[in-house]
Amino acid sequence: MLKIQGLSKRYKTGDHALKGVSIEVPAGQVMALIGPSGAGKSTLIRCVNRLVEPTDGHVFLAGEEITGKGSGALRRLRRRMGMIFQEYALVERLTVMENVLSGQLGYVGFWRSYFRRFPQEAVDQAFQTLERVGLLDHVDKRADALSGGQRQRVGIARALLQNPDILLVDEPTASLDPKTSRQIMRLICEICAERDLAAIINIHDVPLAQMFAQRIVGLRAGEIVYDGPPEGLTDAV
Ligand code: ADP
Ligand code: ADP
Repeated sequence: MLKIQGLSKRYKTGDHALKGVSIEVPAGQVMALIGPSGAGKSTLIRCVNRLVEPTDGHVFLAGEEITGKGSGALRRLRRRMGMIFQEYALVERLTVMENVLSGQLGYVGFWRSYFRRFPQEAVDQAFQTLERVGLLDHVDKRADALSGGQRQRVGIARALLQNPDILLVDEPTASLDPKTSRQIMRLICEICAERDLAAIINIHDVPLAQMFAQRIVGLRAGEIVYDGPPEGLTDAV
């Protein structure tokens, strides 16, 4: 589903953050990206959706090259990548439902009046998705009235409503307590299995990654130092 070939990134102000990384993630696979701070995890995820421009290498989504695409094609490809962030990136004064539907527009800037003109089909799908993530009782609550775990469930629902081919998940549990972190990781992994959805989850909590991901990729100083099943992971990473 996702193919990363020889991906390198050198920021103007620094060293190489990624040094020729190659990874393929098939449909349905949940891959955890681990490694110490500064290893290049965020850079890798951001190069995939080109929030960061790679210096070298290629990224393909379902056979279509993302790298080198112009803004129109890039926007279309980005709609097939569901982004989930550590800090949720919710609009505080909007409700759960409004936040989830705002993802349908493909950007966060969003006006209330827009919501009223949403096709019924999108609203129906939003209800189904909110039920799946356990937020059906909270659809009309404002984002700023939610707990951390609930906020991340909104983030997940918003990403899912795009019907993505892959989830790109950047530190989804970094602001959550251990129990909520497990619940959120379990939810993401269950949904990926149900939908045959690929995911790359950037996560610094190694035990949590091992508990839920099918595959672990360890990065260190921009290079892959481990790529295999969770149980094969050693202290080397
Ligand atoms: P991780 O997500 O694993 O903590 P990052 O991808 O954030 O790693 O960072 C990898 C390296 O790139 C680090 O050395 C970091 O300082 C550097 N870096 C990240 N973002 C930028 C940036 N916008 N400009 C310059 N250097 C950056
Ligand atoms: P609760 O069951 O009350 O939610 P926990 O948050 O501790 O309590 O556990 C939630 C779920 O996390 C458990 O039902 C279990 O499936 C999973 N879990 C917890 N620890 C592990 C572990 N070490 N390995 C695999 N799954 C675990």
